[in-house]
Amino acid sequence: MTQIASDSGAQERDKWQALWRGFKGRCPKCGEGKIFRAYLKVNDTCPSCGEELFHQRADDAPPYFTIMIVGHIIGGGMLYVEEVNDNLPLWIHMAIWPALTVILALTLLPRIKGALVGLQWALRMHGFGEAETPAVLARA
Ligand SMILES: [Zn+2]
Repeated sequence: MTQIASDSGAQERDKWQALWRGFKGRCPKCGEGKIFRAYLKVNDTCPSCGEELFHQRADDAPPYFTIMIVGHIIGGGMLYVEEVNDNLPLWIHMAIWPALTVILALTLLPRIKGALVGLQWALRMHGFGEAETPAVLARA
């Protein structure tokens, strides 16, 4: 009886778990180590389990999704407030919406980037699936 090896011989990774761990700023593999060493700088390797994270290529996707989400929240919020109370002075709008936009964008951006890095890890994109090959030296 022969055993047929799978294409990569690798186990499937849980996409939603990796996405959620990345959203929380944690390593998609172990969920313990921090994924970022600075606001948006991804660690080369996980400080907890040593998983290589430098394979990530999030590029423009995090700001794209952040703008899309924040734009819908702020745009919808402005229209809703205007619909509910059209007597609200303009200075209140000028005080609320720009500040809320900045706060939301800066809060969501690293979380969305972490989630996307986690998803790339789970889908074995950009070299995340080369665990069976000899270890690549982490970039300095
Ligand atoms: Zn880890």
